[in-house]
Amino acid sequence: MSARAGVVPADHPPPVDSRREFIRRELDGEEDRIDVGVAIVGGGTAGLACANRLLALLAEDPQTAERLGEVPVAVIEKATVCGGHSLSGAVMRPQPLLELFPGLTREQWRGEGFAFGEVTREAVYLLPGPRAAVRIPTPRPFRNHGAEVISVAALARFLARRAEEAGAHVLTETAATQLLVADGCVRGVRSGDRGRGRDGEPLGNFEPGTDIRAQVTVLAEGSWGHLTGAAIREFGLSDDREPQVWELGVKEVWRVPRPLDRVIHTLGPWPLSPGARSRQVGGGWIYPMRDERTGEHLVSVGFVIDLDYADATTSAHDLLQLFKCHRLLRGILEGGERVSWGAKALPGGGWWSMPRLSMPGAAIVGDAGGLVDTVALKGVHHAINSGRLAAEAIHAALARPGEPLESYERALEQSPGGRELYRVRNARQPFQQGFVRGLPLVNLAIASRGRLPPGRLAWHRDDERQMFVGSTARRYPKADGRYTFDKLSSVYVSGTATRDDAPNHIRVRARVPRELAETWRWMCPAGVFEIPADAPADGDVDVIVNYTNCVQCGAITAKGGRLTTPEGGDGPRYQQM
Ligand SMILES: Cc1cc2nc3c(=O)[nH]c(=O)nc-3n(C[C@H](O)[C@H](O)[C@H](O)COP(=O)(O)OP(=O)(O)OC[C@H]3O[C@@H](n4cnc5c(N)ncnc54)[C@H](O)[C@@H]3O)c2cc1C
Ligand code: SF4
Repeated sequence: MSARAGVVPADHPPPVDSRREFIRRELDGEEDRIDVGVAIVGGGTAGLACANRLLALLAEDPQTAERLGEVPVAVIEKATVCGGHSLSGAVMRPQPLLELFPGLTREQWRGEGFAFGEVTREAVYLLPGPRAAVRIPTPRPFRNHGAEVISVAALARFLARRAEEAGAHVLTETAATQLLVADGCVRGVRSGDRGRGRDGEPLGNFEPGTDIRAQVTVLAEGSWGHLTGAAIREFGLSDDREPQVWELGVKEVWRVPRPLDRVIHTLGPWPLSPGARSRQVGGGWIYPMRDERTGEHLVSVGFVIDLDYADATTSAHDLLQLFKCHRLLRGILEGGERVSWGAKALPGGGWWSMPRLSMPGAAIVGDAGGLVDTVALKGVHHAINSGRLAAEAIHAALARPGEPLESYERALEQSPGGRELYRVRNARQPFQQGFVRGLPLVNLAIASRGRLPPGRLAWHRDDERQMFVGSTARRYPKADGRYTFDKLSSVYVSGTATRDDAPNHIRVRARVPRELAETWRWMCPAGVFEIPADAPADGDVDVIVNYTNCVQCGAITAKGGRLTTPEGGDGPRYQQM
């Protein structure tokens, strides 16, 4: 296989025209559509925080609630249950959730099964190699004392139940496939057709989608929002911003024989190649999760990598398997058993990459708006904070027509969460110059609490990085099915189910340079992409897309493809992620 440099994913864009395909300008008549007050697209943490806060405000304001009609708040979620497609580490800063439900204690969170204990001890290690671990003083972004270990999938199930009790209509197994836009204003969304065959032909059980018309629409789609991307283009929401960049994390939950007493982060360099050629930047975590209800000792173990790397053989899934082979990890996991697996991308650009978060008729919350501090790997509390503040601005706009939704953006900027994101606005970009060259500037940004370096540091797009076929893959361990696992058995434990004859929801070019095909093959944690065995070693090759394995992590969109929404109900069924 050649190691020539020079293939740039952006030169092979996917066959997608998002404004033409994903925006619908001719709306159905009154008899054919569903009218709701507020449509929230995405039943993850951000969307459901928004639903709960809005319903609490409407409960105290019956006049406004009355004006929203029979369905004041609808949450539209493509997974079979809310949280089924949500994945996080997750160590959560607790304040925004305490504020969302002031009557609920942290003890009660644990009793509800989404929280697993307060962080009281923590450690950060440098890993020079597969056996050594050097403990370092905990850098400020990794100080998690007092935070809570949670599962976002379980948190979303809890939030959905509370929202339904408060009057929300939660429409699961429903993908929002088009944004309704008329007269320069978002008017709601259209749900996807069901029962189409591989080539888009209607099958016997075909049901067409429906226009869901809303007075206000909230885009809470998480990373790689399908409609969020179309809205950003339609309303020019990122025109004066830096491009978004992405990271990919793979996580496993293990039942372990001995309780882990601390939260652990590792900062490499092992198992990565952080040099200027391969450009791998990332790290690992292992968090204790004691299930109060069953008494079981679990841990969350994961590895996250910036998608700006250049070595096409980089695979977050295999790096996690390698990471688990470190002596530090073996001491915790050996004798245990893997109980679940999942993968997901997260936005990494931070402050300067955030699009404008409001437009006529709609607002953007959570990861869809890029509200993640990837220096600290923290987004859950930003998702809750943004959902809550958007709900307050939407309530004000509904109660006093004419009040603009932009007040949400100002409230977010001035909130503690907004100020946190501003403080780390320049703290990640230096890594794009390479880990070693970038580290002093990253440290400066953290130590000066964001005062230095001054100005606005630029990001360059992940899909503009030149890819080459390197040698990272040679280090991956062989799966033994007990301690280390291959991709397909991992997809199996994620509960992923997609109809075999469903249309392909992954858009990529069918024939691309070998370097790009290798990039997709290694990057995809679910083993969706294959290169035929008889393909030439150099030049263009065909790509086989086994899209029914897809866990909808979104990473393909960073490197020259596009994840679009599959039929509602397809994809993973995460329980503890
Ligand atoms: C590997 C990893 C580790 C992380 N670790 C931490 C951590 O330790 N601490 C922390 O605070 N943060 C962490 N984060 C970040 C945090 O998980 C996210 O910021 C947060 O969960 C985002 O919540 P959300 O509601 O915006 O998105 P999501 O949870 O992704 O929810 C979006 C929902 O929208 C649905 N959806 C999307 N599009 C459509 C559509 N068109 N129609 C219908 N439904 C749709 C999806 O199915 C999904 O349910 C981590 C993230 C990752 C990926
Ligand atoms: S095909 Fe699916 S699982 Fe694979 S990288 Fe793309 S979105 Fe992720």
